[in-house]
Amino acid sequence: MSIHTRTIPLSRKLSLHILPILSDNYCYFLINHHTNQYAMVDPSDSKKIHQYLNSNEGQSLFNQKSLSTILTTHKHWDHAGGNLYFVKNWKEFSSLEKVQVVGNGECEGVNQELKSDLESFTIFDDKTVVQAYHTPCHTNGHVCYLVRTSDEEGGNFDCLFCGDTFFVGGCGKFFEGTAQQMFDNIVKLNKEIKDPERMLLCCGHEYTLKNMQFIVDKISDTETSRKYLNKYKNLMEESHGTVPSTWQDEKEYNPYFKAALLESFETRREFFDKMIKDGSATEDDLKTWSSVKILQTVRDLKDKY
Ligand SMILES: [Zn+2]
Repeated sequence: MSIHTRTIPLSRKLSLHILPILSDNYCYFLINHHTNQYAMVDPSDSKKIHQYLNSNEGQSLFNQKSLSTILTTHKHWDHAGGNLYFVKNWKEFSSLEKVQVVGNGECEGVNQELKSDLESFTIFDDKTVVQAYHTPCHTNGHVCYLVRTSDEEGGNFDCLFCGDTFFVGGCGKFFEGTAQQMFDNIVKLNKEIKDPERMLLCCGHEYTLKNMQFIVDKISDTETSRKYLNKYKNLMEESHGTVPSTWQDEKEYNPYFKAALLESFETRREFFDKMIKDGSATEDDLKTWSSVKILQTVRDLKDKY
C-alpha cells in the first residue's frame, strides 16, 4: 500500500502513529513521550514491523522507547498475527520486564485476558487509562479500545481503536454475528462518545474509497456523501490515507450509523434517497422498518455490491 506513515499529536504526552501494513491493514502506535514507552495496536506482520522499527524513520520515533503493551482487537491473523513474535522477542523492543498483551482469550499471545464488557485497565507507567468495549459481530470476541486524553494534559484528540468493527464509511462483515449486534455496538459507543469531533476512529483497514463509492451508488446520493467521497479520493491520490476519521464524520455519512441512529421517517428518507430511487426500500419501508432491519438491508446490499 503506497500510503505514508503519519503521526498525530493527541496531547502533550501522547502521539498516535499510523503504519500501513500488508495490503490494506493499519497498525497503530500510541507513543508516550513522558514515560518513553509505546503501545502497538494489532501488530500483524511482525517482520515488517520489526524492519520498520529499525529503519531511519522508526529509529527516530522509537529509539530509546520501550514497547510496553499490545492491544489486540480480534483473533484474525491480520490483526493478532504478530503477538507471539513480540512476546518472544520483547527484549529487543523493550527494557521492561514483560510486554502486556491485552485482548479476548481467543486471540493468540494474550497474557492479559479481558473478561467482561467495559473493563478498563492502565498502560504505561503513568497509568494511561484504556477502556475496552466488547463489540461482538465481526467475531464473537471483538474488542474496541478507547483512549481518552484530558484537558490538563493538553488533550486535543481521543482515540477509538476499532479493528474490523467499524470502518470509514462502513463496518466489518458479520462473520460471527448479527445486524442486531452491530446496531447494539453503534448505539453503545455513541452513548459513550460525548465529543464526537475529537474522537478519532482508528480502524483496521483502508477500505474507504470502496465504502464511499458504495454509499453514493446504492444508499445515499446526497451532497454530503459526494463531498466526503471527493475528500477521500483526494487524500488517497496524495498517498495520505483516509484514517483516522472522527466519530462525527461517521455520523455524517456512514450508512450503518445512519441506520442505527436516525429514527424519524423524514431524516431516513433524506439520507437513504438512493435506496428509494433504486427500489431497495420503499418510503413505506422506511416508515415501518426497525433500525436493525435497515442496517441489515444496507449490509446485504454491500455484500452484493
Ligand atoms: Zn477481521
